[in-house]
Amino acid sequence: MENTKICTKCGIEYPATLEYFGKAKGGKFGRKAICRICETSKHKIYRENNKEKITAQSKIYCEKNKESIRAKHKIYRENNKEKMTSKHKIYYENNKEKITSKRKIYRENLSDSYVKELLTGKSGLSCKDIQQELIEIKRVQILIKRHIKNQTT
Ligand SMILES: [Zn+2]
Repeated sequence: MENTKICTKCGIEYPATLEYFGKAKGGKFGRKAICRICETSKHKIYRENNKEKITAQSKIYCEKNKESIRAKHKIYRENNKEKMTSKHKIYYENNKEKITSKRKIYRENLSDSYVKELLTGKSGLSCKDIQQELIEIKRVQILIKRHIKNQTT
């Protein structure tokens, strides 16, 4: 018989699988007390209410721990090269359409993360160097480029 678990937040009973509950060491069946759906909405609400705080925090964290984060990532990458590649590959294969359409939306809307990606990718800037102002400037630059392209074609 399959184990089930009742989410403490929404009170709905789900199978106690990773699909419905996140991992938690001390939790019943090794799962969290709150279901993934509630967790996501909780995070979303939190994020929306604390947008500036989170941005500032991650910026500070990023600056303070730049070296150690980089070193950690490097070690992790080196130790898990094959695992990561195959994991990414599987994820990509399974979510191809989702990823492509998401990227398309990001591209069309010129979301902060998309613009940031362009900035870090081409110029070699690190997250410390990318201020919101720079994102705005880059966004305008892209818009101008796209505008010109549309006119010439
Ligand atoms: Zn729930």
